[in-house]
Parts: sequence; structure tokens; C-alpha cells
Amino acid sequence: MDIPRIFNIAESAHLIHNPFTSEKLATLGAALRMEKGTRILDLASGSGEMLCTWARDYGIIGTGIDLSQLYTKQAKLRAEKLGVADKVRFIHGDATGYVSKEKVDVAACVGATWIAGGAMGTVRLLAQSLRPGGIILIGEPYWRQLPQTEDIARGCLANSISDFLILPKLIASFGHIGYDVVEMVLADQDSWDRYEAASWFTMRRWLEANPGDEFAKEVREKLTSAPESYVTYTREYVGWGVFALMAR
Ligand code: SAH
Repeated sequence: MDIPRIFNIAESAHLIHNPFTSEKLATLGAALRMEKGTRILDLASGSGEMLCTWARDYGIIGTGIDLSQLYTKQAKLRAEKLGVADKVRFIHGDATGYVSKEKVDVAACVGATWIAGGAMGTVRLLAQSLRPGGIILIGEPYWRQLPQTEDIARGCLANSISDFLILPKLIASFGHIGYDVVEMVLADQDSWDRYEAASWFTMRRWLEANPGDEFAKEVREKLTSAPESYVTYTREYVGWGVFALMAR
């Protein structure tokens, strides 16, 4: 049980598997005004950077679940490195339909809302693990500018234009299902570059270290096309942000 290998290769050196820098992650943590001991559930926790740094900086207690064995292993190592292994735990597994036994203060899914059929489904899933008055965190893409054609949407690695909303519509959609948006931190083109461009260097290094690997052809093709494709499409068209929600 794991994610497609290309991600485990291309993002193996990423601490954050999203278009967020560590500064933006810290900004979000500060914006949430969390007290020591705040309990956080993080579905699709990646390499654990959010829980680990927030445990170090704010004394939160967290559980993360992720489908990537590699990222989960990296998350555990990161927790040890930051001295927070007693505050956070990381479970390798499928977060689809996951509801925690004990209610948490913050329930998050940052950049993996396909686990519950989209952002709104993920809000409903996370709400089942949340204490009354708790905060839901959703990390989600949106269109910075609406693509004129479906080809452009596919260039942005979306299946179609309808996969994402423009930001005003995304914000409104949280209201439509009964939630206040109480905070948000948005990616920008520079933080997108940290996410995307970092994967090119990682792929190049991987190719040099694994020339005979059966997967080398696929990685080579991706590295050849990714930079030009990214600056043509995703960098211009796709925004991304983390939205903090509280039930009305
Ligand atoms: N929230 C993390 C990771 C976001 S990238 C961060 O911000 O760094 C998306 C993550 O979803 C990857 O770590 C991937 O392994 C994970 N993932 C994909 N499908 C999943 C599933 N069904 N259950 C749990 N994790 C999943």
C-alpha cells in the first residue's frame, strides 16, 4: 500500500509536499493561536513537517496518517531530530474515511482532499473527529485565473477546469456548507517554485544515482518536460492555500 513511485522519488527531499515554505507554515501556525497541548489530527501528513514544527514551536500534540511509507518514515525521523517524538506520532495507512477515537482541537487535511471526494467532503470527514468549537484546516488549490481551455487545465495537472474553483467561489463554498473561514495563508509563485523546482533537482540527482533503474525513463521524461510545463501552466494558473474553518 503506497502512493505512485514518481512522488516518492521526485519529492523524497521535500520537507513540505505542498507549495508552502517553512515560513508560510510557521505563519499559519502562529495565525491559529494554539495553546500548549492542542490536539491535532493530520490526514495525509506527508513527511510530518506541520506537526513536528508546531510541536516544537507551540507544544501541540499530534497524530498524522499518510499512505507513503517513505514520507511516514521521514516524518518519524524529523520528529526525533526536532526533539518532539513524544508529542507526535505518525501512522502509515490510508486516511480515506479515517475518524479519530478521541476528538481533536484541530483536524487537518492539507493538500489531499481527494481522500474524501474533494474539499467539501473532506470538511465533513474531518468534522467527525473534531470537538465542538474546533478548527478544520483544508489545504486546497484554486484557479488564480480561470483557464480558457480544458487543455490548459490539463497542463495544470487538473482533469478539467471544474476540478478547482476561483478563490472567491472556494471561500463562498465553505460558507455554503455552514463554516466561517476564520484564517487563511496562501501560497504565492515563489512558494510554488520551492515546491516544484525542488523536485527537478531531486529527480536529476536520482537519475544520476539510478541510471539502470526500470523507472529511469519515466523520471527522465518528467524532468525534461516539467520546468517548461510548470512555468507555462501551474505557475500562472494555479493558486493554493490553507483555510481555517469553524462551524457557524
Ligand atoms: N500534508 C502534507 C502532504 C501533502 S502531499 C504536507 O503538506 O507536506 C499529499 C499527501 O497525501 C502525500 O504525502 C501522500 O502520500 C498522501 N496521500 C495520498 N493518498 C492518501 C491516502 N489515501 N491516505 C493517506 N495519505 C494519502
